[in-house]
Formats: sequence, C-alpha cells, structure tokens
Amino acid sequence: MNHSRIYLSPPHMSGYEQSYVADVFASNWIAPLGPQIDAFEKEFSAAVGVPHALALASGTAGLHLSLRLLGVGPGDDVVVSTLTFAASAFPVIYQGAQPVFIDSEPFSWNMDPQLLARFLADRARQRRLPKAVVLVHLYGQCADLEPILSLCDRYEIPLIEDAAEALGSSYQGKFAGSFGRAAVFSFNGNKIITSSGGGMLVSSDADLIAHARKLASQARDPVPHYQHSEVGYNYRMSNLVAAVGRGQLQVLEERVAARRRNFAWYAEHLAGLPGIKFMPEAGWGRHTRWLTCLTVDPAAFGADREMIRLALEAKNIEARPVWNPLHLQPIFSQCESVGGGVAEKLFGQGLCLPSGSSLTEADLTRVVETIHCAARSIS
Ligand SMILES: *Cc1c(COP(=O)(O)O)cnc(C)c1O
Repeated sequence: MNHSRIYLSPPHMSGYEQSYVADVFASNWIAPLGPQIDAFEKEFSAAVGVPHALALASGTAGLHLSLRLLGVGPGDDVVVSTLTFAASAFPVIYQGAQPVFIDSEPFSWNMDPQLLARFLADRARQRRLPKAVVLVHLYGQCADLEPILSLCDRYEIPLIEDAAEALGSSYQGKFAGSFGRAAVFSFNGNKIITSSGGGMLVSSDADLIAHARKLASQARDPVPHYQHSEVGYNYRMSNLVAAVGRGQLQVLEERVAARRRNFAWYAEHLAGLPGIKFMPEAGWGRHTRWLTCLTVDPAAFGADREMIRLALEAKNIEARPVWNPLHLQPIFSQCESVGGGVAEKLFGQGLCLPSGSSLTEADLTRVVETIHCAARSIS
C-alpha cells in the first residue's frame, strides 16, 4: 500500500490564475499595490454584496485593523466565539484588550445568542460593556445573526464578522460578511479559495475602509514627503497575490458545490455507523461545508474520535480534531469565559474529514472505507 496523501483542504487552482499572474509579470506590477489589487477588491465586494473592500496580507491583519478602527484599546473587553482558531482572538491581545469567550449552541456550533444575551445584560448592569463582538462563522456556516445583531444594536456594540471560513455561505439570503460593521475573510492555503495567503476586510462604511487602507500602508499622510500622524502597519496584499485570488474567486460557486458534494457523499456512505453525527445545518442559510465535520460518540461507536483519526493517518489521510476551544488554551487561561461545555464536547468528539474541492470519488471512497474498516475492527 503506497497511496498518495489525502490532505484536509489543499489548494485547488482553477487555471485562470496563471493568465492574471502573466499580466502582472508583463506589466512589472510586482508590488504591494497595482491593478490586480484594485480589480480583486471590486470583484470581491460584488461577490459578497458589501460596497467596500480592502485586500490585505492576511485575515488576521483584517481583524486587527477592524478592532483598532472600532476603538478597541487597553483595558477593553472584546467578546469572541470560543470554538474557533486562535487568530480570531490574537488581535484582541495586539490591541492590549482582553477576549471574553462565549460558548457554542448545538444547532450550528457557533456563538450561543442566549449566552451572549445573559452576559451583556450582566455587563450592562455593571456598566462594563465590551467594546466589540467578534463573531465567527464556523466551518462554512453562519452564526445565528439575527438575535446577535439585535443584541449588538440594543447595547450599541459593533459586530465584527470573522468570516475567514465562511466565504460563500449565507444567512437569510444575504452573504456572510454583509451583516457586521466590518467583516474579514481569509485566503490562506486551506480556505475555500486561496491566494496562497491573504485576506480581505469589507464594510459598508467607506470611511472605515479608507482609514484601514491608510493604516495598512504605514499610515502615510497624503502629502508628497514622508509624514505620519498615527502608527501604521505593513498589511497590504501584493499585486501578484491578488492575481491568484482573482482567478480563484471566479470559480467560488463551483468550489462551494464541490464541497457540498463531498459532504453529501460522506453523509450517504457513513449513514449506517452508530454514534456518528454530522455538523448540523441550522436551516437559516447556505452552509458551504468548507470542512465536513462529524462527532463520534464513543459509547455508541465503540471507539473515540482519536481512534478514527489515527486509522485515517495510518492510511496517509489527513483529518483533524475540531478546534480546541480558546477558553482551554494556555495562552488564554486568565480570560473570562461564558459556558464552554458545548464547545468542549465538540472538541472532544469532533473530527474534520478531508474536504478539498479537488477530492476524487476514489479519494472519498478511501476515506469512507478506512472509517468503515475501523468500525468493523472494534465491533
Ligand atoms: C484562517 C482563519 C483566520 C486567519 O486567517 P489568516 O488569513 O490565516 O490570517 C481567522 N479566523 C478563522 C476562524 C480562521 O479559520
């Protein structure tokens, strides 16, 4: 047995990228600005239905800029979903503020609006409201935006959508990223589309994006000599990278369809196994199934998530545990958290299966057969 490795979520080029990259070389715009950036921002803004977009070096840079522009600073608290990647919360620390982590609900695995409501009511009584809410849309599915937005409105707290995993997903007919004061996307190598690495900050607030654009290029004042009146960053995307992103954005709908097909295949072919449940679709919008995730109930299945993961690894197949909740991370051990049991259980039992849009039927069959084989070996 000498099978090639099946990755969790590898890059999948469309073929259009190279012609845009060729334009970059032909024009010598090998720089952190240029026509590919301008076009990518316009096309992206149209694709998600948000009027202003800023291409950046990473999604993390976008989160950092939005926190800074919403006035988050030392001593402030920022609410963050606990079940997510650490990059959702690190920028809170960059600003000298503290994250407060909120548990998931079981319907979409995203931030629980009821826990948020209780937390904000408590904090309102204490006159210690958080300065912002960073809401993650996990694994390609939107959080329950309606109640969360209405809470943010009631307490006048700006909402930042961390839509790094949710490009192409929707909620009540509108795309992820079109709800908050600002939203952030990622084009890291494992996301639904990739530019090789990069991010996008979007907002309907033109001034916010204009200011973010200035801060992202070392906060140069608009005068001919070098003058800086505030602290900036080097956060811009390069024109070369934007060319790759444009070629990818063109096939976003195909990528969503392919990932949903992977999920449907897994759901059909793993259906009979006891104790296996897939991440639910909450019904309030489109779940892109960026990653197909499931939970393994060890009592019913006869073995735990790790045993399946190791069986897959032994067959050269990459699968990963669901995010380790941030309130359990050593670096955030001093931070306040609200609830946590749901996310802890999802971490304990959750597994992300290979979900790339370039998976073949033979690949999917290999994954499914390995899991069936593991199930047989324990029964
Ligand atoms: C990938 C990811 C990020 C970070 O995006 P980068 O482009 O890698 O900086 C942030 N939040 C979530 C939820 C992510 O999955």
